[in-house]
Amino acid sequence: MTNTMTLQALAQDDRLDPAKAAVEITAVNKWYGEFHVLRDINLTVRRGERIVICGPSGSGKSTMIRCINRLEQHQSGTIVVDGIELSNDLKKIDDVRREVGMVFQHFNLFPHLTILQNCMLAPIWVRKMPESEAKELAMHFLEKVRIPDQAHKFPGQLSGGQQQRVAIARSLCMKPRLMLFDEPTSALDPEMIKEVLDTMIELAEEGMTMLCVTHEMGFAQAVADRVIFMDQGQIIEQNEPKAFFSAPQSERTRTFLGQIL
Ligand code: ADP
Ligand code: MG
Repeated sequence: MTNTMTLQALAQDDRLDPAKAAVEITAVNKWYGEFHVLRDINLTVRRGERIVICGPSGSGKSTMIRCINRLEQHQSGTIVVDGIELSNDLKKIDDVRREVGMVFQHFNLFPHLTILQNCMLAPIWVRKMPESEAKELAMHFLEKVRIPDQAHKFPGQLSGGQQQRVAIARSLCMKPRLMLFDEPTSALDPEMIKEVLDTMIELAEEGMTMLCVTHEMGFAQAVADRVIFMDQGQIIEQNEPKAFFSAPQSERTRTFLGQIL
């Protein structure tokens, strides 16, 4: 009986419906002053979908994903995240940011707080979670990224790969429905890249909706449902990984892949 009721409740929560979009970007344009950085971007991300975004430096990848949690503002078109349209409404921006976790190239941990405190901060201040519960949650996710033993150290005492895994754990503590990654491994020494990618692969396998800017094409082939290639502010082409890598349609994609593979 309980099971049936739980299933009914789940079915009624349309936010779990995989057919509904996690992110819907429609005809988005953005300028930095005179510079047209995003040109007519259209992109729908389904719930549970894993998308890898690649493209040359300066093509607008970071700007596009930063628009999704309003770290940058677009000037025309619409961006709807989990049913909430991004506008200047601060309440809505807060609502979106609660649902969206972001991991950056530079881990952006607070250097004066311990690993545990870094992870507890947002649940306590944003989610108003009691401290004991926040601590339990933080330890849970630190275990998940396999560094519970580092909880009482400071970020500067950890390797880059460990710090990036803390950054992922810290995001997960907010129970995001969508994770954005902006070149999470590009500042890491080669031997640390795998431990971060493995964490991301696990997250993908658990069904997290993910948008990842990365040039780790092995990762793209392992987990992406779709690979998107951007150049000069536009989405030039997109496809499932196998077709994307074996038969790129555009000359620009071929040139780019020729440089990185
Ligand atoms: P990518 O992540 O693909 O390397 P970005 O989105 O960071 O590209 O940047 C796209 C272009 O916009 C680059 O030419 C960059 O110099 C420019 N740009 C990025 N941020 C700003 C900013 N805050 N002000 C002005 N120009 C910017
Ligand atoms: Mg970038």
